[in-house]
Amino acid sequence: MTTAVVVGSGPNGLTAAVMLARAGCDVRVIEAADEIGGGTRTSDLFGRGTRHDHCSAFHPLGAGSPALRALKLDEHGLRWRWPEIDCAHPLDGGGAALLRRSVSDTAAGLDVDESVWRDMIGGVAADFDDLAEDLLGPLLAWPRHPVRLAEFGHRALYPATGVARVFRSDAARALFGGVAAHAFTRLDRPGSAAAGLILLAAGHRYGWPVAEGGSSAITSALASALIDAGGSITVGQTITDIDEIGDADVVMLDVMPGAASRILGNRLPARASRRYDRYRHGPAAFKVDYLIDGEVGWTHPGCSRAGTVHLGGTFAEIAAAEADVVAGVMPGRPFTLVGQQWLADPSRAVGSLKPLWAYAHVPHGYTGDATAAVTAQIERFAPGFRDRIIDVVSTSPADLELANANQVGGDIGGGRNDLRHLIARPGLSPNPYDTGIPGVFLCSSATPPGGGVHGMCGHHAARAALRHLGR
Ligand SMILES: Cc1cc2nc3c(=O)[nH]c(=O)nc-3n(C[C@H](O)[C@H](O)[C@H](O)COP(=O)(O)OP(=O)(O)OC[C@H]3O[C@@H](n4cnc5c(N)ncnc54)[C@H](O)[C@@H]3O)c2cc1C
Repeated sequence: MTTAVVVGSGPNGLTAAVMLARAGCDVRVIEAADEIGGGTRTSDLFGRGTRHDHCSAFHPLGAGSPALRALKLDEHGLRWRWPEIDCAHPLDGGGAALLRRSVSDTAAGLDVDESVWRDMIGGVAADFDDLAEDLLGPLLAWPRHPVRLAEFGHRALYPATGVARVFRSDAARALFGGVAAHAFTRLDRPGSAAAGLILLAAGHRYGWPVAEGGSSAITSALASALIDAGGSITVGQTITDIDEIGDADVVMLDVMPGAASRILGNRLPARASRRYDRYRHGPAAFKVDYLIDGEVGWTHPGCSRAGTVHLGGTFAEIAAAEADVVAGVMPGRPFTLVGQQWLADPSRAVGSLKPLWAYAHVPHGYTGDATAAVTAQIERFAPGFRDRIIDVVSTSPADLELANANQVGGDIGGGRNDLRHLIARPGLSPNPYDTGIPGVFLCSSATPPGGGVHGMCGHHAARAALRHLGR
């Protein structure tokens, strides 16, 4: 029987594992941590019964992923749950822009920008399913929908600042900027509009849902699908050298390029070795989990109904904060994302106790404590918030890397998201999953389409492996 070993049990590693097992391979997953899931884990962090997502929380690309949908994870217990409002972006002075599943409802709330939102963002959203087939994979491959991709690329290759100028109101500009900032990149650089357009389009098509019970439910569903197909999982084993794996027809590495280079050593062709060793990482996340009593107490009522709340003020303020973190400077008011998962999935809360999820964008490897800055950003739009805090756990970039070696210096996006990595990740190649060693493939978020819980990196890497096996 053909054997496959998958190193790392993040959503990409597990997606690859399920695909290979369903294709008839004998698959073993080896995970360094004591529990599986990588960036999709959930726990009762404070011992009070509330469910806290350690990393991923909202999944527009998960719900819209051709790879995850093909795996039929609903048959393994995965249920998406949607908040009434996907994302709120409050502004100083009490206003807010609200992103809803419906394009027209969102546009209607944006007054002077109604028609621009409907035409520009609504147009991309209408094409999302076709675009996903081309965008959520290697951009150097032959596109399935070249005309749609060219239309999208025309806008996506712009800097986010250029796209934001199309809007006339601060609210619409800020809403677009907050979503574009998910890429942890300078918003005045070519290609920085891409992440905003994709996440907004996916949101209008599939919403920004959470997984019922916690993001770990995505991991459990993938693991159940793998076990059903005859695969097995070992936890608590870190692979440092390919020889530790033993004989396998196929090896899938859900690791960062630097780690792959160390694991593969001098077996790796010189060109790939240079590319992996020089792979560039992006700014970091500083995570803050709160246990709160009651609701947050937002000034704008729309924020109290939104799963995600983006805190960063105007587009210009967010762009300046992002430029700072890319330059290695900690901003006074870092762009901060807040999650209120219990609004979509009440099973996360216990009575009036709620698990509030937040993280700020900070410089790569930031060694300071950003907890006060995160709390201050929430307090700015929800005065009195501090009084609702029962307990806090902060996770620094170093802590993130300690828990998961893929989060190098706290980079949660699998590498810097500049134009170069948008097009060529981890390097320029029509098959970026191929390490150059026959049968050994990279399948982490350092490969296209990059960060996020969508399993598409694992999906494309598994397809490359199956082609190698002649299937
Ligand atoms: C705070 C935070 C918030 C986020 N929010 C979201 C969100 O809301 N929505 C979203 O879609 N995404 C979000 N993400 C990003 C998402 O979690 C990642 O993009 C995704 O998990 C990447 O999947 P992966 O399979 O490539 O790698 P990972 O999930 O990082 O998994 C890699 C696994 O490999 C293991 N491993 C690494 N090296 C070795 C080794 N040598 N031997 C054995 N095992 C090894 C690791 O322990 C880990 O379990 C967030 C991430 C963080 C940290």
